[in-house]
Amino acid sequence: MVYFDHNATTPLCAEAREAWLKASEEAWMNPSSPYPAASRVRHALDAAREELAGHLDARPEEIVFTSGATEAANLVLGHFARQREQTLLIGATEHPCIRESAQSGVAKVDILPVQPQPDGRIAPLKLAERLRAKPRPALVAIMAANNETGTENDVEAIARVCREAQVPFLCDAVQWIGKRPLGALRHADGLLGSAHKFGGPKGVGFARLGAALGDLRGARGGQQEGGRRGGTENYPGIAAMVAALRSAQATVEDAQAIATREAWRSRFLERVRGLGFGVAGSEAANLWNTVLLLPPLGERMRWVMRLAKRGFAVSTGSACSTGRESASAVLQALGIPDATARRAIRISSGRESSESDWQALADAIECILADLSAEDAPATVVRI
Ligand code: PLP
Repeated sequence: MVYFDHNATTPLCAEAREAWLKASEEAWMNPSSPYPAASRVRHALDAAREELAGHLDARPEEIVFTSGATEAANLVLGHFARQREQTLLIGATEHPCIRESAQSGVAKVDILPVQPQPDGRIAPLKLAERLRAKPRPALVAIMAANNETGTENDVEAIARVCREAQVPFLCDAVQWIGKRPLGALRHADGLLGSAHKFGGPKGVGFARLGAALGDLRGARGGQQEGGRRGGTENYPGIAAMVAALRSAQATVEDAQAIATREAWRSRFLERVRGLGFGVAGSEAANLWNTVLLLPPLGERMRWVMRLAKRGFAVSTGSACSTGRESASAVLQALGIPDATARRAIRISSGRESSESDWQALADAIECILADLSAEDAPATVVRI
């Protein structure tokens, strides 16, 4: 199986597997237990927190380990959503974990459209304009890169606009981390990340909570994570997440490696566009691994199943919307007509994907298009 669904989840990288096994064998005790053997786990946990904070240009106390980005989003937005007479401003293409946790309480939620940017980017000038209007939001949540289209936002400009307006800015960096340099994220007040999107295990992630977000509390029931998230820390998962990040950063910071991957994607785009496919996303700023294809014909599950038959794993938009009948909210926000959006398939490569994987995928797409065109062509009436 050639795997082109890395935005759904990535395989565990070798470094993460090794760190997880080592921690599970040697540091499995509860870090809150009082004896010296458990204190060693506490110290290892502190070291992991420090290393992650270092990558993010943050202070260790700002890091709260969670079970993933969904929990981290619920921690931050759930808190703001519970406040009466507050408005939260979120981007139109946010992941459901942002949208639904913002909408989970009594706070009002305003959606910042991505139009007039048809490529799905948030325009910092439009954001600045909105922040000058009333009611002034208590929080802005805008993602770094979109999980369906790969469209990247200008996080630095958005952070600047929010800082000038003195409104805290939360950035869902789940799809950015492991693909783009982390420096661009450093001015966001809050960040969310998830290990399984960059070669780490599932069920572990983090929130980086800057001082501007105030005193937030997530899961209750214990004093772990500075009282902000109760529950025994998943040290093996955390060790593996940090090892995965270290490993992913080596590729992300290698400009040549990234340029090569950009070129593979561009060649693929050229080929599929030549076959009549549309592509949603940004020409100017898109992740090097993601293509949201809009086939000229054929329903999306037909494409997914035909590609699976030929040995390729791709998805229909985001994994959490698989099986839903309606077109994705992201594509609706981009103004893509419903009939076209219902055909969309998402292709997302990984660090281990090769140029020949992209070429083989384009070959398979070309063959399937020919098959579907033949099958869907009206029957010819032969006159004798
Ligand atoms: N945010 C984005 C952009 C995502 O793509 C995902 C997962 O698909 C999440 C948040 C949720 O992450 P997790 O699986 O860690 O809950």
